Amino acid sequence: MRTQTEMALAEADAALMLIDARAGITPLDAAFADVLRRGAIPVILVANKCEGRSGEAGLLEAYALGLGDPAPISAEHGEGLGHLFEALAPLMPEPAEKRRRRTRRRGSEDYHDIGGGRDDSDESTGRGTGEAADHDQRPMRLAVVGRPNVGKSTLINRLLGVERLLTGPEAGITRDAIAVAWTHAGRTIELVDTAGLRRKANVTGRLEALAGADARRAVRFAHVVVVTLDATAGLEKQDLTIARMVVEEGRALIIAANKWDLVADPGAALRAIDERLETSLPQVRGVPVVRLSALTGRRADRLMPAVLAAYDGWNRRIPTPRLNRWLEEIQQRHQPPLADGQRIRLRYLTQVKARPPTFVLFASRIRSLPEAYQRYLINGLRDAFGFAGLPIRLHLRTGKNPYVAPNRGRGDR
Ligand code: GDP
Repeated sequence: MRTQTEMALAEADAALMLIDARAGITPLDAAFADVLRRGAIPVILVANKCEGRSGEAGLLEAYALGLGDPAPISAEHGEGLGHLFEALAPLMPEPAEKRRRRTRRRGSEDYHDIGGGRDDSDESTGRGTGEAADHDQRPMRLAVVGRPNVGKSTLINRLLGVERLLTGPEAGITRDAIAVAWTHAGRTIELVDTAGLRRKANVTGRLEALAGADARRAVRFAHVVVVTLDATAGLEKQDLTIARMVVEEGRALIIAANKWDLVADPGAALRAIDERLETSLPQVRGVPVVRLSALTGRRADRLMPAVLAAYDGWNRRIPTPRLNRWLEEIQQRHQPPLADGQRIRLRYLTQVKARPPTFVLFASRIRSLPEAYQRYLINGLRDAFGFAGLPIRLHLRTGKNPYVAPNRGRGDR
């Protein structure tokens, strides 16, 4: 716990030290206070469980820790959070600046080299379609999920270049998803570190059950999710369940086929994974599969370029005129079917948002547009605009182009 605390402090801009005011000050509190007093960052002492009058005695004792006035709160009842916020507010620098500072301090230079300048590697090409990507300034959030023992911790440690993830038998050390940040190819990446990484926990059965909920939490939090497999076992049912969840949540999916060093017949193994993806995950064609060995490091430098490429696609916005030229072409190639004896006419397509790419299609009699044709459109979009392997959402609306006055033509711009 001490190591974990010191690592956390080394990366933090401020610390909240919590005590249980009902229990009063314990020797362990005093020990932590010592560490904090010697540290370089501001500390706010927080006395929790102060609802009612239950915490009064502990609140007074807390002064003895030498960390200044304790802020009385009740986390459970939501009391005192305003005071806490006030205490924190002056410590908050301008966010972008803060991030830059923090990542510089972390500076895992080893890692910085991985994949740096290698953006021409196979997985990352073919997407340079030149559209605007609405990157905001927030860092990309990455999660590495997968069944126990597939090598997630090994992979993450290789990516970070340091023994960064602590796993241990003590309950509660990495209970909650926390993020570590680092820079790669000039971008800030936040890595979600989930409880699924606690491989050494004592009760394995319980851990496996937890991993499901943890995985979902990590997936929700992330932008890009690396589903890690043990390549010697192939793509198993549980892996597919996780992959499906990633797609349902609208996140960008990458498959890391780990332990490739142990694969006897690489050709057959890759084919098996590809085929499984095609039959079991047809809704996202072209999911990148990166074969690598986290243990030996072989091909590990392929992962981040694939991640960044997927993130770019996930953020990409296609200009409406291009989309509508494409819509004309694709209808000519393969006409929509008849509905009530009349041909369905697709009138207008626009991308209403990214992250994940989301489109609205306007058409006459759209309710009759068969699923197969919708899939044809989605796959067409994927191929034409570099959304391979990404979830695409297509909403259907009856009618014409809503952005054109009703008596001014039919929505062609
Ligand atoms: P996690 O439970 O998914 O975090 O898995 P770990 O990272 O703890 O790895 C489980 C075991 O697989 C460890 O013994 C690792 O050394 C081993 N391992 C991880 N990656 C590889 C790899 O690429 N090749 C081989 N041969 N073993 C690996």
